[in-house]
Amino acid sequence: MTHPPVPLLDLKAQHATIRAEVATLVNEVIEDQAFILGPIVGRFECAVAGLSRTRYAVGCANGTDAILLALRALGVGRDDEVVTTPFTFFATAGTIHNVGARPVFADIDPLTFNLDAAAAGAAVTSRTKAVIPVDLFGQMAAIEQVRAQIGSVPLIEDAAQSIGASRQIDGRVVMAGEVADVGTFSFFPSKNLGGFGDGGMMVAQDEAIFTTLLKLRTHGSVKTYHHELVGYNSRLDALQAAVLMAKLPYLEAWSAARRANAAYYDHALADVADVVTPYVDPANTSIYNQYTVRAQRRDALQSHLKERGIGSAIYYPLPLHLQPCFAYLGYSAGQFPEAERASQEVLSLPVFPELRADQRDAVVDAVRAFYGR
Ligand SMILES: *Cc1c(COP(=O)(O)O)cnc(C)c1O
Repeated sequence: MTHPPVPLLDLKAQHATIRAEVATLVNEVIEDQAFILGPIVGRFECAVAGLSRTRYAVGCANGTDAILLALRALGVGRDDEVVTTPFTFFATAGTIHNVGARPVFADIDPLTFNLDAAAAGAAVTSRTKAVIPVDLFGQMAAIEQVRAQIGSVPLIEDAAQSIGASRQIDGRVVMAGEVADVGTFSFFPSKNLGGFGDGGMMVAQDEAIFTTLLKLRTHGSVKTYHHELVGYNSRLDALQAAVLMAKLPYLEAWSAARRANAAYYDHALADVADVVTPYVDPANTSIYNQYTVRAQRRDALQSHLKERGIGSAIYYPLPLHLQPCFAYLGYSAGQFPEAERASQEVLSLPVFPELRADQRDAVVDAVRAFYGR
């Protein structure tokens, strides 16, 4: 190999830059022996509410539970319908099934890969109890356009991949999670703000929703051993909150570094006809959780990159309406052509903030070489 190997993500490189801060906060938790909720979780919740410009934030066990608890807090249950995108991580729709409701899919906008607002509106029926747009790959969905299409139906914004992303709406900058009824985040290690394990958070502006979320994460109780509703054990670990609190001050710079890497690729791959570089809506500031291109010869390109030691990944190879577990919903191939085409064409390239210039060039050279450029 004439160039350095390039992983899709290098968490060791990131940890090397923050080792001391993480150790200090983690050690405080260990010295306190206060592992369940406690002050560090509260501090981190306040910080995420501040970032998201929401009145409330509630930590939970993971990004999947954040969606699950949000659905429950909005009263979604048996025989209800929830509209969402088929081109997302499984959790977005799995949670709808798990509260007893029916996932109803609507196609995506081929430019941004996010839920198409008009399609979402057309999928709403009298049984629709929520709509879940996903802020995929780091850029916000056109949430105000979705809102305009669905009337007063509650909105859950799955912002697992987009903490700190923003969007200009009517001349105002809006943060991911800010204008939904509930916004949800994941701190899975590969997200832009990743813990040393699982973690999640819900943000909201409404006090009644907030208090319900608080109850739901501790078996439906506020007063110990008195249960107002049947909830879950889904708390954000104090140790994870310590790690995340240490990392949070770096999030903005990390996301800016990802944007710089993305801009470099955009320029360096602009003349490669088969590679369509990511489209960011001019209203959006993306945090580039993924740098996802489209390529007709996607699978061959990925094999070529692999041979050269360059990491890449396909998010997502099978849209949710075609997953075996959702056969009972009765969807078939051809129903959501844009989601299906995206799943055939997408390839995510290394864009992590610690990517070195020589690694970035190795990615560019390898892609160009595949096309004989
Ligand atoms: C990661 C992710 C989730 C789930 O988060 P976990 O913390 O892994 O449970 C949900 N939705 C999307 C879009 C994600 O990327």
